[in-house]
Amino acid sequence: MVVRAGREFLAIPGPTTMPDEVLRAMHRPAADIYDGGLLALTESLHADLSKLFHTRGRSYIYIANGHGAWEAALTNVLSRGDKILVLESGRFAIGWGDAAERLGVEIEILKGTWDRAVRPDEVEARLRQDKERRIKAVLTVQIDTASGVVNDIPAIGRAIRAAGHDALFMVDAVASLGCMPFQMDDWHIDVAMSASQKGLMTPPGLGFVAVSERAREVHRKADLRSPYWDWTARDGQEHYQKYAGTPPVHLLYALRQALDMLFEEGAENTFLRHRLLAEAVRRAVGVWSEKGALSFNILAPSERSDTVTTVLVRSERTANDLKDYCRDKCGVVLGNGIGALSGQAFRIAHMGHVNAPMILGVLGVVEVGLNALRIPHGEGGVLAATRWLGDNVPA
Ligand SMILES: *Cc1c(COP(=O)(O)O)cnc(C)c1O
Repeated sequence: MVVRAGREFLAIPGPTTMPDEVLRAMHRPAADIYDGGLLALTESLHADLSKLFHTRGRSYIYIANGHGAWEAALTNVLSRGDKILVLESGRFAIGWGDAAERLGVEIEILKGTWDRAVRPDEVEARLRQDKERRIKAVLTVQIDTASGVVNDIPAIGRAIRAAGHDALFMVDAVASLGCMPFQMDDWHIDVAMSASQKGLMTPPGLGFVAVSERAREVHRKADLRSPYWDWTARDGQEHYQKYAGTPPVHLLYALRQALDMLFEEGAENTFLRHRLLAEAVRRAVGVWSEKGALSFNILAPSERSDTVTTVLVRSERTANDLKDYCRDKCGVVLGNGIGALSGQAFRIAHMGHVNAPMILGVLGVVEVGLNALRIPHGEGGVLAATRWLGDNVPA
């Protein structure tokens, strides 16, 4: 017996659910890429991406996933032999640092653990020791999609300044942009990057980078610059130069629609919606965890992100059985544990185009699975989630 007919629900942390409006926006014939209309579209997207990042600096759009945008960010400001500091809090800053190393950059990892956020005082202490100013950039993520942690980006920025260090501050906002505050200029971020397929509700395939004045200065002398990623080449007047070739026309229309929807909802409501739905998930997980078979990966409640929740399970068998049950019997696809948490966790995404029925549906299905598989868990997780929403979304 299965109860999965109907629309399958993808609860993995990217790619995320796309609104029907976004899908429809792509349903159009091939466009004349030399037409003025497309140039206006590109200009509007550049301006609106800078608005999302909250910067007066320029934004760039690459035909790339997040890994491509990582490389774009690195090659435009770094040189062979430069040293950078990578702040560990899960998998993704490490992955970004790994890309830098393969490009010929020396990396130092500020050790962290997978169950907590980066400690700004440790960043400050390390930078204070760097008397010769060998460290050229500090890399961190706002939300690590593997561990489920949210880092305090403004506090890390303050730590860099408190150390009196001039390293560039580079932030990955792939799993957070459009879902929680990001204030690039106010937080003194020099290079920020993101991608289309998580909070921005658009198909995978677009990577974004936003650039401060200071980063633009450093860019002039960076020797890792390469033709495809190079900001200066993309600053050319021709529309063709903006993408170093043919524009990704249909993805641009999709992104335009997604940003229109975000702006229509308004940042304040979008962020609050994410916070409320994330807390509903946390209420349920908190109750389920009472019997010891499940637990939050991130120990401190204030460090749990509003876009993804990583839940530890006692055995690999439990994680696999639960995921299989939810998908095969009920049509809900949960995220796997990845990296150090491979086989030890499942993840529930709550980012982008999500609302109460989607999230409560996922929680309900997980609870069905916990019951069906006789996995020990506290009773009433879904009830706790619905109570929380009822109390916090007033009539
Ligand atoms: C998904 C993700 C990436 C990588 O993006 P891809 O599009 O898969 O290359 C990078 N950083 C974070 C925080 C992510 O969540």
